[in-house]
Amino acid sequence: MSDNNEIQARSILQEMTPYTPGKPIWEVQRELGLDKVIKLASNENPLGPSPKAIEAIAKVLPELHRYPDADASKLKQVIAAAYDVDMKQLIVTNGGDELITLVSEAFIDAGDEVVVPVPSFSEYRFAGLLMGANIRSVPLNLDFTYDIEAILRAVTARTKIVYLCSPNNPTGTILTRKELQQILDNLPKHVLVVLDTAYSHFTTGNEYTDGLEFVRAGFPLLILQTFSKIYGLAGIRVGFGIAPAGIIQSINQVKEPFNVNTLAQVAAIAAVGDIDHVRSTQLLVVEEREKLYAALRELGLDYTESMSNFILVELGTEAKSQYERLMAKGVIVRYGQIWDLPKHIRVSIGLPEENARFIEVLREIAGKSL
Ligand SMILES: *Cc1c(COP(=O)(O)O)cnc(C)c1O
Repeated sequence: MSDNNEIQARSILQEMTPYTPGKPIWEVQRELGLDKVIKLASNENPLGPSPKAIEAIAKVLPELHRYPDADASKLKQVIAAAYDVDMKQLIVTNGGDELITLVSEAFIDAGDEVVVPVPSFSEYRFAGLLMGANIRSVPLNLDFTYDIEAILRAVTARTKIVYLCSPNNPTGTILTRKELQQILDNLPKHVLVVLDTAYSHFTTGNEYTDGLEFVRAGFPLLILQTFSKIYGLAGIRVGFGIAPAGIIQSINQVKEPFNVNTLAQVAAIAAVGDIDHVRSTQLLVVEEREKLYAALRELGLDYTESMSNFILVELGTEAKSQYERLMAKGVIVRYGQIWDLPKHIRVSIGLPEENARFIEVLREIAGKSL
């Protein structure tokens, strides 16, 4: 491109690599001329959206000439009731991603520091850089658990935000209740902790915390949630945050008035109420997770046990070519390079037949390269 002008974008943009989304099905179909393509790359709900959400969307279509409710008040009521929090402790956003941007805009001055785990969700770093923050990356332990001491050591007088993702994307590992308690007890009072719980509904066992108890106890903690995963509404863009009221108030100051559209609001209300849909999704994921573990073990492959709806699989030095061969056979997964994990892929847990197909192709491919 050689536009003939001297318009200079902000210098920080040169340092920023944009988010790499999972390849959409249509793109792979077109590029490779394949009929049947399975997408196990973006941790979406394999059961689709809640049927109740679809119904709610259809009903509200004739009202689309009206602006949405700027305060998303009905949706907030429903979320407040379901998560047992006060409406003043809630903000609804255009996906969880928007919340990450808003948090940066509300709290970061140039030169402030943001602590992010690595490997983890890339948007924390991205949103911080955009506001001129210095990013302090703290590696997870070798088994991908959190290194609590290292996180606490990374905090300085300039630290504004510490991001924690639990279950962590892309590893599926969690921060335990005890560990979160330890972090909150030891952080200086000027640090906001953002706990990203996009995958909280897929956890099992009682070591996990979704952080709500700590918000109720008054800690400076912001919980991030999304309708894109368990609720199956990734395409309509809605998420929310829960934090002490003062923190929410600051974030509200930078939010655009109509950030969540009418369709998203009604769909999300219906999805929260569709307990059957949530339960069937949980059941499917937990059951299929075990089946995938067994199949991976049988193939002699290492994986990280996941509390989420995806599994990080170690393929070794052939990971990239195997990722490409999976793609060529119509199975889209994520290659680990984006997280600096060149020997890994991340596979989302899909429908039973999709997971079986993934294993079938992996078996063919692994057989060839070994
Ligand atoms: C999917 C995801 C989100 C939120 O995604 P949205 O679609 O923007 O709501 C947030 N954090 C993590 C770790 C995710 O994987």
